[in-house]
Amino acid sequence: MAGDRALLRQALSTGEETDGRVEFKERLSREVHLSEARFESLAAQLRHRVLSGDGEATYVVGVTDEGHVAGIKPDAFSESMDVLNLIADEAGAHLDAVETWGTKDGIVGVATVKDGGTLEIATDHLIVGTAGHVDHGKSTLVGSLVTGRPDDGEGGMRSYLDVKPHEIERGLSADLSYGVYGFDDAGPVRVDKPDRKSDRATVVESADRVVSFVDTVGHEPWLSTTIRGLLGQKLDYGLLTVAADDGPTETTREHLGVLLATDLPTIVAITKTDLVSAAETDAVQRDVERLLRQAGRSPLSIARHGTDAALDEIGDGVVPIVRTSAITMDGLSTLDTLFEQLPKTAAAGGEFRMYIDRTYRITGVGPVASGTIESGTVAAGDSLLVGPVQEGTFEEAEVRSIEMHYHRVDRAEAGRIVGIALKGIEETDLERGMALVPKSADPTPTRRFKAEVMVLNHPTRIHTGYEPVVHLETVSEAARFEPLDGQLLPGDSGETEIEFKFNPYLIEPGQQFVFREGQSKGVGTVTQCIE
Ligand code: GDP
Ligand code: MG
Repeated sequence: MAGDRALLRQALSTGEETDGRVEFKERLSREVHLSEARFESLAAQLRHRVLSGDGEATYVVGVTDEGHVAGIKPDAFSESMDVLNLIADEAGAHLDAVETWGTKDGIVGVATVKDGGTLEIATDHLIVGTAGHVDHGKSTLVGSLVTGRPDDGEGGMRSYLDVKPHEIERGLSADLSYGVYGFDDAGPVRVDKPDRKSDRATVVESADRVVSFVDTVGHEPWLSTTIRGLLGQKLDYGLLTVAADDGPTETTREHLGVLLATDLPTIVAITKTDLVSAAETDAVQRDVERLLRQAGRSPLSIARHGTDAALDEIGDGVVPIVRTSAITMDGLSTLDTLFEQLPKTAAAGGEFRMYIDRTYRITGVGPVASGTIESGTVAAGDSLLVGPVQEGTFEEAEVRSIEMHYHRVDRAEAGRIVGIALKGIEETDLERGMALVPKSADPTPTRRFKAEVMVLNHPTRIHTGYEPVVHLETVSEAARFEPLDGQLLPGDSGETEIEFKFNPYLIEPGQQFVFREGQSKGVGTVTQCIE
């Protein structure tokens, strides 16, 4: 992550002072600096720097004692950061952030070291997936919730949240969420600017419950990002927006179909109620209620039955409907109450597993795999298997560090969105859809499996040889269907065998997936993996 040069310049011009917070190091190596005597004096020095800087020290690595910018090779830099981590740990401090810059001889970096152990973050983290037709107010609603401020009706709020792909920050924390807020004893903990790292970090640090919103991009329904958003993460709840001045559309119907088919407890927000009369909002709400009943669900009007009823009955076929306006802020406190009190639904426990969503390389850190932890926990230093790689085998890698919401953490558990920096593997070997599991696991890749599927939308019946793209966890791959009865009818459920066309993946019974080919689409559940 190329940082702001001012940080480097400032550190260099401050220089190393006896009672200052800045320390220059050319490099730190395991061999030299971890020897007992050196290690202890380095820890004492770091302690001194942290105290001199009122709890925060700055380590400039890749420069000589005189402050001459030398730059060191990436491997040496990585090793230096590992060693600095250990020294900081010994001194009761932790590495809070690392920024690097390229020089002609390698890299130079500035590590910010903070007092205290690595952050203990709130144990309770709810992940909410938003869905709905484009312009039906998803980004705005999230923006107004997390800031507590109204929108201007002209896209003011969403500008914080609508990050274009090329702007997506390639930080160590691969933040798939686009809005975060939280709750503590005193109520909501909001952010000032939703896109500012430090605001989000403060929420994660101080709240007892953190709520992350994950966008599922409503532009073109069934875009792979939408599907990834819905299935590739351990979502706890779905939040579907329907604009009061437009009503449910085909996209609304499809998004609702996926949310419900994957059994995600869902809330419908009728947005923009300030734009139309109460009678028109009533009419839209009736349309939504009809849609839900057609899908075999019971709508629950919060206006009529109250928030407590919604809290009691959500899931189990009941879908609460809340009316909102990001302009008047109507209904937003109801959503606050729900997000403060709703239980976490995604199951934790079990063996560690994470499906890779994105991968990238960070100078000085190495390859990073990001995604949502599906089950179990992972800790820095853990030995993992990654794969299946091309040949259908798994490769070993070690967890160098874990980052979450711009915070380095020692360990992370199911449901967390994390970036895991890996040692012992190349970034080019990592692909979306691969899984990370413990080294002790004995993973068997699957090429062919049996599934129970439901065809949501297909012009005719589906026969053997039908080849849609299957989206399962973060996997997106062409697959061939062989229905057990020879065919599958639209609107019906049935059994089929499915074979991935190109690669095997680590999958297991119970996992849900979406498939799509042209206009046809459907959902399914893996019932059996066939060798
Ligand atoms: P998204 O595509 O679903 O994320 O929709 P946006 O959040 O980008 O909203 C689309 C437009 O609707 C923006 O110009 C918003 O300012 C506007 N908007 C969103 N919510 C409201 C609302 O409650 N009332 C009014 N009047 N406008 C809104
Ligand atoms: Mg949006």
